[in-house]
Amino acid sequence: MVLQEPSFRESVDLMFNRAAAIMDLPPGLEEKIRVCNATYTVRFGVRLRGQIHTFTGYRSVHSEHMEPVKGGIRYAMAVNQDEVEALAALMTYKCALVEAPFGGSKGGLCIDPRQYEEHELEMITRRFAYELAKRDLINPSQNVPAPDMGTGEREMAWIADQYARMNTTDINARACVTGKPLNAGGIAGRVEATGRGVQFALREFFRDPRDVEKAGLTGGLEGKRVIVQGLGNVGYHAAKFLAQQDGVRITGIIERDGALFDEGGLDVEAVHHWIARHGGVSGFPDATHTAEGAAVLEHDCDILIPAALEGVINLANAHRIQAPLIIEAANGPVTAGADEILRDKGTVIIPDMYANAGGVTVSYFEWVKNLSHIRFGRMQRRQEEARHQLVVEQLETLSDALGKTWSPSPDFKEKYLRGADELELVRSGLDDTMRTAYQSMREVWHDRADVQDLRTAAYIVSIGKVAASYRAKGL
Ligand code: NAD
Repeated sequence: MVLQEPSFRESVDLMFNRAAAIMDLPPGLEEKIRVCNATYTVRFGVRLRGQIHTFTGYRSVHSEHMEPVKGGIRYAMAVNQDEVEALAALMTYKCALVEAPFGGSKGGLCIDPRQYEEHELEMITRRFAYELAKRDLINPSQNVPAPDMGTGEREMAWIADQYARMNTTDINARACVTGKPLNAGGIAGRVEATGRGVQFALREFFRDPRDVEKAGLTGGLEGKRVIVQGLGNVGYHAAKFLAQQDGVRITGIIERDGALFDEGGLDVEAVHHWIARHGGVSGFPDATHTAEGAAVLEHDCDILIPAALEGVINLANAHRIQAPLIIEAANGPVTAGADEILRDKGTVIIPDMYANAGGVTVSYFEWVKNLSHIRFGRMQRRQEEARHQLVVEQLETLSDALGKTWSPSPDFKEKYLRGADELELVRSGLDDTMRTAYQSMREVWHDRADVQDLRTAAYIVSIGKVAASYRAKGL
């Protein structure tokens, strides 16, 4: 029983321990998998506005059972060693669960990016990248960062360019970081990937009525009332796709400066534009606003999507959470203590290591694209179209010969004749990954009497995979 709120890293370890306790791991291997291999702390100075500013950054490597290790770089004032190590551990388990062939890592810089001009952020990012790259903590075959909270395509492009300047003869330099813009070696669909993955995860959850019933819900996704915390990269894309394509109602959006709610459903795109123009949700005209944002986590809804930061559902508010289903789009939004309270209440939690794995999955595709130096679909697309054209012509000839008129649905030809472009291939690969990983968790969840929740099931699957790679290495 967790009585006091543990730190983020302790929380991850407690969840790990719960799963490891019911696994049959050789003595010592459990400890080896759990511990963080190394954390590098760097302090560096950058001259800005006429004076030297000192910044503190981290890069933590949790597990090198596979290399390169992979994990985002976060820009936030709250970044600290404990947080970076917790996030690096989650990366290890996440990559194993979705079968992305990476170890786990994470980085962070203590900075409020909103306090700096773009050119200042570029100087700071390049300097941080330099410090990491010279120690191989950014390297296409050793350690490959990606975006996280407070960073995006722009920062990844600076990091890639900085690495390339330092390694002028490395033909694979672009693979040193993922989440880059398309014109700098990125891949179609990376920006939306984590939110898209949340959508695919929910779709797979709702495909099995047994899972839906465990959450005390009925039917499909359509019409479900959803509250989202954080309308950043992950929260915005998840909310947008779920509302536009699955017919859910986004009844609440929680941001830094309060929350908006409307039982009839909020217009996600309009709120997103408002935040971009005004820096927050306050003043948005078409909804009720409350300054007590976090309290909206406790509102009645069908699905709660925390997509901002860790520890928001904790010992203080867990017993008041009404949502029967929580999908952890953020990393670590539910503390170990809250997890216990929610489990006792019967709340179903789709855990972070699975729910937000869409980002690293598409990052994996981007890394492969960079190493193969060719866009996905470039060789096959037109050939595929030509073969489909042949089938359509044969069907038309056949229907003529039979004296019948072949009248397919209006968009059949358009859809069938078009060969898949990179974006379609990426979405297809992501969908497949999210379904397969969910099914592996579901199997453990349903089949083992000693597993009551999806998180434990996720840990069992991923720890099993990490253990198998250590065994294969002879450890
Ligand atoms: P982001 O910076 O794009 O968005 C975060 C959003 O949360 C912002 O809109 C911010 O205003 C809001 N926010 C911050 N503090 C808040 C608070 N106290 N209450 C309500 N809202 C608050 O970050 P992101 O990339 O969307 O990441 C969000 C979470 O998802 C993090 O936990 C991150 O580790 C995780 N994640 C991100 C990715 C990715 O590809 N970007 C991948 C996997 C996991």
